[in-house]
Amino acid sequence: MRIVGIVAAGGRGARLGAAVPKQLLAIGGESILRRSVRLLAEHARIDEVVVVLPPDLAEDGAANLAAELAFPGKRLTVVAGGARRQDSVRNGFDAVRGRADVVVIHDAARPFASADLVSRTIDAAVESGAALAALAASDTVKLAVGGTREGLLVVERTVPRERVFLAQTPQAFRADVLAAAIEAGRGGEVATDEAALAEAAGFPVRIVAGEPSNLKITTMTDLKAAAALAGAPSAVRVGTGYDLHQLAEGRPLILGGVTVPSENGLAGHSDADVLAHAITDAVLGAVARGDIGRHFPDTDPRWKGASSMVMLAHAVTLAREAGFDIVNVDAVVIAERPKLAPHIDRIRASLASVLGVEAARVSVKGKTNEGVDAVGRGEAMAVHAVVLVSGRG
Ligand code: MG
Repeated sequence: MRIVGIVAAGGRGARLGAAVPKQLLAIGGESILRRSVRLLAEHARIDEVVVVLPPDLAEDGAANLAAELAFPGKRLTVVAGGARRQDSVRNGFDAVRGRADVVVIHDAARPFASADLVSRTIDAAVESGAALAALAASDTVKLAVGGTREGLLVVERTVPRERVFLAQTPQAFRADVLAAAIEAGRGGEVATDEAALAEAAGFPVRIVAGEPSNLKITTMTDLKAAAALAGAPSAVRVGTGYDLHQLAEGRPLILGGVTVPSENGLAGHSDADVLAHAITDAVLGAVARGDIGRHFPDTDPRWKGASSMVMLAHAVTLAREAGFDIVNVDAVVIAERPKLAPHIDRIRASLASVLGVEAARVSVKGKTNEGVDAVGRGEAMAVHAVVLVSGRG
């Protein structure tokens, strides 16, 4: 029997308010997405894994992400999602149609499901056609109706809670059942999970006892709880970075991956993003992995004109490999002109997306050198940066 896992990561997690899609945020040294992919990829009974990403991510970062998400010995395919969850899962299923007997679908936002829960859901689906993990309601359950004023809710009745279950993932299906359920959903049936499509198509869907720890990370509170579940970091490290580039005519001014309108740009082998360079050095410094010159020598033609944000992303990967996540970044950009204030928030968001943290953890401050020295004469721009990382290293 060939079993395929689909990780549904097509949403952007707007409720979390992060600059990056929530599935790319890291907890305990590993992104939420990678943790969820690991659950299926390392499962002994699952033969291959499909990851469904938001279309823009699937396009821009497919190669990088596929490398980051790869697990030895398991075929991994990254596909672009659709407008609705069910469209995303359909795209994922289309990628493996014909070579799957059973399909296990799991939310990227639930990194803590156990391998045992995956097995039990598979077993139930093999036996009954469709199954989902669901948690028995432990609180008393009330059914509400609208009250006399708008926004007012009153209890209509108390529902026997023995019959109330809160749906989780994994959800597993025989391939023929999933195909029929998806086909039924094509007609306009809108569902927030695949089990609902199977129910609507008339298939019995088995309930498998879910796990309270199989938390869905939706809000910032969930993210904090998830970080605690992943285990509190046992170590913090700090790194510092400094860089200076000369200003030159006819060059764009790029700071933190953002092109800032300016009469002069920075001279250099790469795009001369002095801010990205200083932060890259700070990240490398925090995990004692050398410096930017060692990893990206300017004698190497690969880096000529390269986006320095690619170098920063690589430094973040090295930090993760060493077991550390970025906690926060603080940087001072010293320049006589242009005024950076109007561009700071865009720069912070750009850096945050590569650092894998919310923009609230990235600080960039502009400063002049009061006309003193080369920086003060407007001949150069300098940056000091400090990075804190935490992890298990
Ligand atoms: Mg530099």
